[in-house]
Amino acid sequence: MTFFGGIEAGGTKFICAIGNGPNELVAQIRFPTTTPEETLNQATEFFIRFMEKTQTQLAGIGIASFGPLDLIVGSPTYGYITSTPKPGWANVPIRDVLQTRTGCPVVIDTDVNGAALGEGKWGAAQGLRDYVYLTIGTGVGGGLIVQNHPFHGMLHPEMGHIRLPRDPEKDPFPGNCPFHGDCFEGLTSGPALMARTGQKPEFLPPDHPIWELEAEYIALALQSIICIASPQRIILGGGVMQQSHLFPRIRTLTRRLLNEYIQTREILEEIETYIVPPTLGDMAGVLGAIALAQQIESA
Ligand code: ADP
Ligand code: ZN
Repeated sequence: MTFFGGIEAGGTKFICAIGNGPNELVAQIRFPTTTPEETLNQATEFFIRFMEKTQTQLAGIGIASFGPLDLIVGSPTYGYITSTPKPGWANVPIRDVLQTRTGCPVVIDTDVNGAALGEGKWGAAQGLRDYVYLTIGTGVGGGLIVQNHPFHGMLHPEMGHIRLPRDPEKDPFPGNCPFHGDCFEGLTSGPALMARTGQKPEFLPPDHPIWELEAEYIALALQSIICIASPQRIILGGGVMQQSHLFPRIRTLTRRLLNEYIQTREILEEIETYIVPPTLGDMAGVLGAIALAQQIESA
């Protein structure tokens, strides 16, 4: 029996798992993200313990990590977390540490590319080749799968930082992205909603006016993403998207913004199955990491 390992490396917690898919997990662990030393020790020990106990070697380990990351194979800092503002975590060679200590081949990608791949293999984008997974949570990020593989390009997409038009009379909040102010993340993340309303978004009622504004911004972002990447489906995850009333509003507004310019079945007739929630829940990241590891063999 061949097993794969997966790590969802998040800014607040790590989830590690071993197995071959959602119904075939043989071990898992989660712990808070502290210092790189302590956190990566806990992760490597989890995999080493499993291999010692079962006398097997994992076929590969995938890491779906917060970033930004260097994903250019051959670059001296390949597999590093690079310029993150998270204290202590800038320039951490997360992939090298795991590969050296476990002796397994290790592949790394962004958290959202990982989640996208997991949803494609076992969740809301099964059977599709080209699709987007967006998370709207503490931050906003998007993963793009092209021809079944995570797209990197020069670095990797940073869809959370595209600019959106803001009417300062309707929305005087200048945005809270430390780099851009009122970019997509700066306007729509959970902390941006909290900064405007003084309340955690999970406690805002569905009829609060902020939600219509939130849906408008998300629809503006989707309109750009659809025009640029032409995904076959868009999955919207992350804590904020647990507000399920956002989905119908976003679908209607996105279609209105596109204004029948893009004449596809998906947009005109099947918008309910075009803009969808994830189905793997909070396991999307770590399952996506396992899916990444499984791509090592087919690469
Ligand atoms: P992270 O982005 O840190 O990985 P999440 O995707 O869970 O984690 O996002 C956390 C953010 O989502 C917080 O800002 C939180 O206030 C917000 N959030 C969590 N649950 C809900 C909810 N049910 N409705 C609206 N916002 C939520
Ligand atoms: Zn930004």
